[in-house]
Amino acid sequence: MEENKRFLCHACKFSSTYQYFGTNPNFAKNIILMEDSYLCKDPFSAEGGFITLGSHCSMCQMSVCCSTDCSLFYTKRFCIDCVKSKIGQFPQEIQQEISRKT
Ligand SMILES: [Zn+2]
Ligand SMILES: [Zn+2]
Repeated sequence: MEENKRFLCHACKFSSTYQYFGTNPNFAKNIILMEDSYLCKDPFSAEGGFITLGSHCSMCQMSVCCSTDCSLFYTKRFCIDCVKSKIGQFPQEIQQEISRKT
């Protein structure tokens, strides 16, 4: 049994154990991460693949999952609350995407 570390998304409260946090997992060389990310083993992958659970919002530092309802990646990771509070600073297409959700 590995160390029981837990990732929690502060937006949707999704939580899961994770095996790695960072940008450069030495066990998964085929994964290229643009940001510090929480990874967990993919239970459905026969090849021992990993899935990205989430990351930290670059503004408020909250951990959020990769779901488009919780965060978005635009040069950096932003949680949806920060996107909404700074919506004017995001490009039109992102503003439209957010307004569709709300
Ligand atoms: Zn979430
Ligand atoms: Zn945030």
